[in-house]
Amino acid sequence: MPGSPLLVYGPHSLDYDFGPSHPLTPRRFGPGIDLLRHLGAEPGLAPEPATDEDLRRSHTARYIEVVRHFSVEGPHGFESEAGIGPGDNPPFAGMHDAAAAVAGGSIRAMEAILRGEVEHAFHPGGGLHHAMPARASGFCIYDDPALAIARARQDGLRVLYVDLDVHHGDGVEAIHASDSGVLTISFHESGRYLFPGTGFADEIGEGSAAGTVVNVPLEPDTGDGSWLTAVTALVPELAAEFRPDIVVSQHGADSHLWDPLAHLRNTVTSMGAAARLVHDLAHEHAGGRWLATGGGGYDAYRVVPRAWSLVWLAASHLDVPADTPAAWRDRWGEEARRYGQAPLPETFDDPPTPTDAATARANERTVDGVRDAVVPLLRAAVARG
Ligand SMILES: [Zn+2]
Ligand SMILES: [Zn+2]
Repeated sequence: MPGSPLLVYGPHSLDYDFGPSHPLTPRRFGPGIDLLRHLGAEPGLAPEPATDEDLRRSHTARYIEVVRHFSVEGPHGFESEAGIGPGDNPPFAGMHDAAAAVAGGSIRAMEAILRGEVEHAFHPGGGLHHAMPARASGFCIYDDPALAIARARQDGLRVLYVDLDVHHGDGVEAIHASDSGVLTISFHESGRYLFPGTGFADEIGEGSAAGTVVNVPLEPDTGDGSWLTAVTALVPELAAEFRPDIVVSQHGADSHLWDPLAHLRNTVTSMGAAARLVHDLAHEHAGGRWLATGGGGYDAYRVVPRAWSLVWLAASHLDVPADTPAAWRDRWGEEARRYGQAPLPETFDDPPTPTDAATARANERTVDGVRDAVVPLLRAAVARG
């Protein structure tokens, strides 16, 4: 029986850095990994750059070449190409190796699970779910969840992908949309209000893979109860229909009430509950095989460390302690204050946030509509093999 989950983190995790004013900051690893260590976690796999052969499972050779070019030239390369340029995905020296290391972390973690060395792995620096085959997008250069899924598909495993980030998991979906052996389910704030502007309920996959793409766009101001109700209403039922061999999940922490980039009202408590739900489904259907990644999350001190911890505790079959360690708050409190993200919470869980009745009803209608549209198609896709 494999022991504690594999934690993926190492020196190269810090290399993925778009600069001091960019919201996706490697500063999150300081308080994040420290809190995990307080819980007894120790990194067991240090990410190293994936090979071009690895990357070509989900990206074009030409795109990898463009990333390499920016990597050498930094901001003095092309002005803008393949989604890289001023704005969300600015070039930086060494960006190919840094992005390839994120991919390598998720791919090697997947391989450890495939070899049966561990049941569960968690890669907090992973979850770069917006990257497309030939284009960077939304802070994402190489799509590590899609690449890990592609690695599992190479061995013929059926993959359930659950995306809990506040943004639509569009890159992972696009890369695997035509493969009926991959079921992608994304819960996110509606594309009417938020980047990347896609992921509507009628985006359900095409051709023989119809029903293996699931999108659940939620209303702005959705709080804990309504969000978790949507996840609980759909994921177990769809997993039971699909019967995956392995589960991959993305645990972006940007659905939080305090997140500066989006408009949902979750707390870390519902994120932790969703992580436990995904964990339990991996045991029920997939022999425990589960790769969890991080994702977005732009409140790097108050939210991201606790969200990661709750995923880790779920994967470790441990209860959630009541209080965050005083030593952790003492160590990071001042830095958090400097970035306007203080005080650090004294508890792991938060009191639940309410959702107003009209918002909750709109989400219920969305969930019912998704279920009615998807379940028959998914059943037919599974029956066809
Ligand atoms: Zn996000
Ligand atoms: Zn377990």
